[in-house]
This record gives sequence, C-alpha cells and structure tokens, in this order.
Amino acid sequence: MKRIKNNFYMLKLMWSASPKRLIWELADVLIGVSIEILYTLFFLRFIIECMQESVGFKTVIFYIFLYFVANSISRGINAYLKNVVVPETNVLIQSKLMDMIYNQALNVDLSCYENPEFYDNYTKANEEILDRGNSILENMSSLFYIIISTISYTVAVLIYEPIILPILILSLIVVNYVNRHYVGAKYERYKSCVGERRKMDYVKRVVYLQDFAKDMRLSDIFHPVLKNFHVAAEDMRVKTKKYGKTAGIYRLINALVAGLGVFLVVQGIIIYRYLTLHTYSLGVLTTVINAANSLNDSLLGLAWESARFSENGAFIDNFREFIEYKPKMVDNLEGQRPKDMGNNISLCNVSFTYEGAKTATLNHINMNISAGKKIALVGHNGAGKSTLVKLLMRLYDVSEGEIKVDDVNIKDYCLSSYRAIFATIFQDFKIFAATVTENVLLAERTSEADEKRAIEALKASGLYSKIDNFPNKMNSILTKEFDDDGISMSGGEFQKLAIARVFAKNCSIAILDEPSSALDPISEYEIFENMMQACEGKTVIFVSHRLSSATLADVVYMMENGEIIEQGSHQELMNQNGKYAEMFSKQAEKYREEGVLWA
Ligand code: ADP
Repeated sequence: MKRIKNNFYMLKLMWSASPKRLIWELADVLIGVSIEILYTLFFLRFIIECMQESVGFKTVIFYIFLYFVANSISRGINAYLKNVVVPETNVLIQSKLMDMIYNQALNVDLSCYENPEFYDNYTKANEEILDRGNSILENMSSLFYIIISTISYTVAVLIYEPIILPILILSLIVVNYVNRHYVGAKYERYKSCVGERRKMDYVKRVVYLQDFAKDMRLSDIFHPVLKNFHVAAEDMRVKTKKYGKTAGIYRLINALVAGLGVFLVVQGIIIYRYLTLHTYSLGVLTTVINAANSLNDSLLGLAWESARFSENGAFIDNFREFIEYKPKMVDNLEGQRPKDMGNNISLCNVSFTYEGAKTATLNHINMNISAGKKIALVGHNGAGKSTLVKLLMRLYDVSEGEIKVDDVNIKDYCLSSYRAIFATIFQDFKIFAATVTENVLLAERTSEADEKRAIEALKASGLYSKIDNFPNKMNSILTKEFDDDGISMSGGEFQKLAIARVFAKNCSIAILDEPSSALDPISEYEIFENMMQACEGKTVIFVSHRLSSATLADVVYMMENGEIIEQGSHQELMNQNGKYAEMFSKQAEKYREEGVLWA
C-alpha cells in the first residue's frame, strides 16, 4: 500500500513540475493502445475476410493505407514525445526534485551530517531519484497501456477460446511470484552497495576537488585513499555477483514458464481446435491466435510492470524519508524576535555531548557577556571553543543547561531572526563560486548600496586595493568552478575577504572562530585591532589559540577539556599566574625567538 502511495506521490510531484509531460504520455498511450488493439483483434481478420469474399484489391489497399496513416500518426506522436517532450521536461522534473533535495539539505540538523545512516539515505535519495522519476513515468504509462490491452484481449479470449484463460492466469501467478523475488534481489543488491558507492564517491571528490590537489601531489596520501577505493570496488563486485546470480535464475524461470511453456500449450490448443473441430474460420483463427499471444504478452508485461511499480515504490521511500525528515531544530516562526542591537548573552550551566559521542565536549559552562564587550575564548586545540560558538549560533542545541539572550532562552526565538544578530566567520570558512560582492555580503547584490557596503568592508579588512586591480573589480568571479577566468587568491587574502563579511553585516554580535590562523601573528593582531575599532559598541567574541590577541579583550575565558578554568581581563589573568599566564609566556617566548615582537 505504501509503495502504491509512493508512486502516486511522485506522479503528483511530476505533474506539478510539468503537466505537459503527463498529458503527452497519456495521449501517446491512448492512441498507441487503440491502434494495437484495432490491428490485433480486427484488422487482420478483416483483410483476410475481404480477400475470401473477393472484395476488390483497391478497397483492401485503401484500408491498409488507412491503417498505415493511423499508425504513422501514433508513431509520430511517440517520436515527438521521446525526442522532444521527454528530454525537455526531464530537465524541469529533475530541477524540481533537486530543488527539493537542496532545500531539505539546508533544513536538516547539522548533526545529521555526522550520522552515517542519514548520510547513506541522503546519498541514495540524490543518486536515485533523477533516474527514478523517468522510470516511474515510463512504468505508469506502460501499466496504463497494458491494463487497457489486457482487458480488451481478455474479452476477445473469453468470446472465442475461454479454455486458454486459466492457463494464462496460472502462468501469470508463477511469473508474478518469481518477479517479486527478482525485484527484491535487485533492490537488495542496490541497498547492500550504498556504503561502497559512498566510499567510491569520496575518492572521486578527493581527486576532482582543488581543496585536496596540493596534499595529493606533495604526499603519498593518495595511495591509502586509492586502496580504500579498490577495497570498496571489490566488495561491490562480490555483492553484485552474489545478487546477480539469484536475479539471473529468476529471469530464466520466467522465460521458460511464460515464454516457451505457455506459448506452446496455448498455440497447440488453438490449432488443434481449428484443424480437428473446425470451431472457427481462418479469419477468426488469426484473431484468436493474436488475442491469445497478445494476452500472454500483456499478462507478462503486467507482472513485470507491477514488479517495477513496487520496486519504484521502494526507492521512493528513500527520497520521502529524506524529504520528510523533520529537523529536531525547527525554525519557530511564531517565536520572539531578539532586538537588533545591544544583546546580553548568558550561559547557565551549559553542557553538550555530540551525537554518538561517549563523553561530553562541554561541561557546566557559565558565562555572562554584556552587550558591547570584547570577549576572547582561548585554550589549546580541542578545548571546546568552536563547539561553544556553534551552541551560541544554535547550530546545535545544548544537552543540559540553557543559553539566554536578553533573558530569553534562545530556543524561544525565531531561529532565523536569532541567527541574524550574529556575523560569524569560522576557521574553515568557504569561498563560493560567486562575485566578490556576493562573497562579502553572503547574499545577492540587490542595489548600489549593497556594493558600497561590500567595498567599505573590504577596505576595512585591507583587501580592497587588490580587488580594485582586477579587470572586473567587485564583479570578478571567485574560484574557477564556473568561470575559467575566475580568481584565486592566497589563503591570507581569502581570510581577509572572510573577515570583510563581518564588517559588511550590520549585526549586534561578531564571532570570529580563528579565521586568522593563516595569517602571521602581527597581521592577526592588526586584523583583530581593526575589528575592535570597526565593531565599536558591538559585542565581539573571538576564538584564538594565539594569546597575543587576547590582550585586546575586555574579558578572556581560558578553556580546557570543555571547562572554563580561568576568566578575567588579560592583566587579571597574568596576575593570577595560572595556566593562561603560563601559556602566554610560552608563546611570547617563542615569538621573541622568531623575531616577532608583539608583547
Ligand atoms: P577547539 O575549537 O577548542 O579546538 P572543538 O570545539 O573544535 O575544540 O572540539 C572539542 C572536542 O569536540 C574535540 O575533542 C573534538 O574532537 C570534538 N568534536 C568536535 N566536533 C565534533 C563532532 N562534530 N562530532 C564529535 N566530536 C566533535
């Protein structure tokens, strides 16, 4: 039942993407099946009887010509459908389905990406649905065609030779049973290889994407990666062969029962009745043989297409499961809206454990960040600084405790309005294949004012003079993904661009999660200093493992193993002479040795 619903669900989607396609498919089926039935049941008999009754040659030729014209029209419609309508509407249908997948991918919880089962489902939905859409339409058209022809041929067989009907039905039952197992084996084969396909796709991405190109050339990392590919390919081969053998045996049984066995028995009965019992004339004999053969074909087609119908239903399950996944973190559109500026943040006893992790990453964090303060989160790698930032942005929800902004639990805010009060740059920020302006605004440029804002932001981050030298200036396309003349810059320059994003967004709170790690300590210090000036009156939270920048903060939080171990101004922490002072002195020493004098 669920599979039937799935097929109709898909049909509805396709109708909304392209009604034209469905109308053409329907016309093709109706005209095609009418002409076939006309030919099988009436036309041959009619011609033979014309000849037996010595009707003039010209009349016979005229009827043949009429049939030829009707058949040509039907084939013309079919050719137009398959060569013009199908390719064109496939694009519409595919883009509708991809739109749905992409939009849902944006909605699902971030934690889903860390869940292999979810990821497999996502891969399956993506991989399959485009081809499936087509297959569903073909299948439904064929089913429609076959149901009409089956009814017509059954009526003919019942009129002339009802004895053969039970034989055909018996064969149908056997074929149907075998087909179900055949389709099951095929689906099992597909399902069992999803993990392998994902691994193979990963290798494909690693080879194609520029991100990995340098490391691949300068190291031997490609060999272990390729080894994984070969292991996955071998596992896939073994599974494919195992299920392939089973599927092959089912196909053979079908061919023997339905094709050969039934064909011989049915023909034998009809010819016996014609020769010995003279039950019907030569003209009727052609109708009976044609009807019996066509009914056999239709019933086999029916078994086959219903198995495909059920197979399609199972595949659509993956797609629906993904599309209908309800994110745990929903945008509460009715929720409160935080004020635009001057927000106070407080974390009360916040703990957090990543999904599937055995231990908590953050433990009982308490913080009070007043509006306009400059906050530094410092500590060694893995201390939990980025996780804290992600909780603040509500990319994940806390496992225990609560985060409040202006005394309201952040879960009570409308998610999109809540996130809008932040401008954040992560360490692994991404540059998009879009113009410089769009990359700075992280949105479409809709007016001159937008561009001016992006320019001012780039000036503040120190990158504008470089951009101004490009032939297309702010309209230059970054990366070479979409444009051969696309622009690439150094890691440090891209970081400046990312920092400009914070300057460009008129937000209450700026968060910088080590975006400056590719810069030298002096440039980092300068950028942070710039940021403090540009963000006057705004709250700035910056994460760094370089303590030089912490001197700029009003309050420094030192983190270790998911806990805040020290807090206070730089000077207070130095006076405490604890872990912060120790780390600071060590780093100052190191930079002094390297000749970088900042402290
Ligand atoms: P920091 O920013 O201080 O370097 P993170 O917050 O990135 O630290 O990481 C803190 C801990 O959480 C690390 O042990 C890290 O392995 C773990 N961690 C980070 N992201 C995830 C994740 N998505 N799933 C599970 N564990 C994670």
